[in-house]
Amino acid sequence: MSNKITKEAVLAALGKVQEPELHQDLVTLNMIRNLEIEGDKVSFTVMLTTPACPLRGRIDKEVREAVMAVDGVKTVEVKMDSDVPNDGRMRGLVNMPIRNAIAIGSGKGGVGKSTISVNIAVALAQSGARVGLMDADIYGPNTPTMLGVDKLPAPNGPKLIPAEAYGIKMVSMGLLVKPGQPLIWRGPMLNSAIRQFLSDVEWGELDYLIIDLPPGTGDAALSLAQALPLSGAVIVTLPQMVSLEDASRGLNMFKQLEVPILGVVENMSYLDLPDGTRMDLFGSGGGEAMAKASNETFLGQIPIDQNVRIGGDTGKPIVVSYPDSAVAKAIQEIAQKIAAKASVAAMTANNALPINITE
Ligand code: ADP
Repeated sequence: MSNKITKEAVLAALGKVQEPELHQDLVTLNMIRNLEIEGDKVSFTVMLTTPACPLRGRIDKEVREAVMAVDGVKTVEVKMDSDVPNDGRMRGLVNMPIRNAIAIGSGKGGVGKSTISVNIAVALAQSGARVGLMDADIYGPNTPTMLGVDKLPAPNGPKLIPAEAYGIKMVSMGLLVKPGQPLIWRGPMLNSAIRQFLSDVEWGELDYLIIDLPPGTGDAALSLAQALPLSGAVIVTLPQMVSLEDASRGLNMFKQLEVPILGVVENMSYLDLPDGTRMDLFGSGGGEAMAKASNETFLGQIPIDQNVRIGGDTGKPIVVSYPDSAVAKAIQEIAQKIAAKASVAAMTANNALPINITE
């Protein structure tokens, strides 16, 4: 007959399991909840820092193994839940329950920045997160087309109501100006427009606000990055040299503004041909080399697929229309990495471990 299992023994075992990205154990991080012991059965909840946790499977396996090794345990029941940490820097913005703001930037236009912003936002929502998309690309605000949205809902108060599509909330400069109307943005005007996009929009509670920034390192991108306490920035590039040089400039701009770089994404990396061969249209490996040279994380490659463009033109993002395609899989993986890195950035910025749960 084995001894009675104690909570202390289970917690001691779980205290040896590390959160792979935060490099601390799950007990210290306050990630173990609702621990219950009934006879030889132990059950508990693991509170992840994002529903899009890329290491969910590994954590699940390791906690089961650790608890099974406790004397007398026959069954382990693990539930996974999540509570996205609140990046303290966002709190400076009054009354905005937005936990993390993540900017997607690029050195120049046409590299797929908006496509990636839209698909990452939808992929995060598919994993269960509360997501908003702010299209601040004043030069080419095309996320409405990509999401099949043509107007914002009628407001019922002083605030703008974001449109909803595929589980995300969105606002876009493109929905606020009439088609064909010229837009002349100067620094202060742009700054106030961005502040309005934050404070005059009924966002509600968001785990992630994805911001599609204008391309380049011009005034617009700069004032945006200054107007917002960003949790981090993602840089999108193509594999070829000229695009990489532009992307490096973008990356350096964020660094100078002390915005953490969450990583580099290489888009249109290759084309898989029907005969099974792979074609590198724009060279290969450039994005990864650039990330390495700047000591930043390479988040992954996205292949070329005409369904990406078709989806963009018809308002159905590829993670919705072809969720099992290579492109969608690559984007889902990149979204998970971004979410995980944002959690680390938020928790480092907060400097307040263990996780503070807001009820
Ligand atoms: P940006 O926001 O950087 O200006 P867009 O996201 O608008 O770029 O993309 C430019 C064009 O390239 C769009 O027509 C889009 O559908 C297409 N596109 C982007 N990524 C891919 C891809 N991986 N495969 C095929 N077409 C793509």
